[in-house]
Amino acid sequence: MKTAERLQTIYTLMYDQLGPQHWWPGETPFEVMVGAILTQNTNWKNVERAIENLKGVGLLSLEALSALPTGLLAEYIRPAGYYNIKAGRLHNLLTFINDGHGGDLQAFLDQPLATLREQLLSIKGVGPETADSILLYAANLPIFVVDTYTHRILSRHQLVDEDFGYVEIQELFMDNLACDTQLYNEFHALLVRVGNVYCKKKNPDCAACPLQGV
Ligand code: SF4
Repeated sequence: MKTAERLQTIYTLMYDQLGPQHWWPGETPFEVMVGAILTQNTNWKNVERAIENLKGVGLLSLEALSALPTGLLAEYIRPAGYYNIKAGRLHNLLTFINDGHGGDLQAFLDQPLATLREQLLSIKGVGPETADSILLYAANLPIFVVDTYTHRILSRHQLVDEDFGYVEIQELFMDNLACDTQLYNEFHALLVRVGNVYCKKKNPDCAACPLQGV
């Protein structure tokens, strides 16, 4: 079976058995953006607690968070782990939007994909996965997000080599799927679900997994 067909089969099996994942779990583009930074190196439960802390005191807006000293921000996001580093990264992102775009988040997100991606990647602490998560889930732009689960699932199914990097895996999806924001949105979310529930690093539960035998 060709790569395009295999990817389509993987998507269909996951979607049929697991249903829509309703990603990203955030109410506004700003919340999605904050979540994309906070989720680095931690699980989503911890991110939720950090976001609830910010929401609970009315700080989950560009204006409010920009006015907050970084040390205090770190305290609010402590549940997400690496809180000093992440507070610094959030500060870098907010400063970029405030200085470069007059604090207009929508104007920042409304830029062409290549421009916005380049700008995001120029911000210290924003790598490809974080940048692409913001592009896809906050700006609704068609780019495929790659994470550890994606790499693991594809390599276990011999679609990529163990040593494939971010760009190579991203190209595999984008070269073989229609350029479709909603498809990329759902596909990545489903891969995260499969990785999280079945395709664990040790002892994958293939017998129960929608991708068994693919
Ligand atoms: S758990 Fe097994 S069947 Fe499921 S994605 Fe991982 S390797 Fe494939």
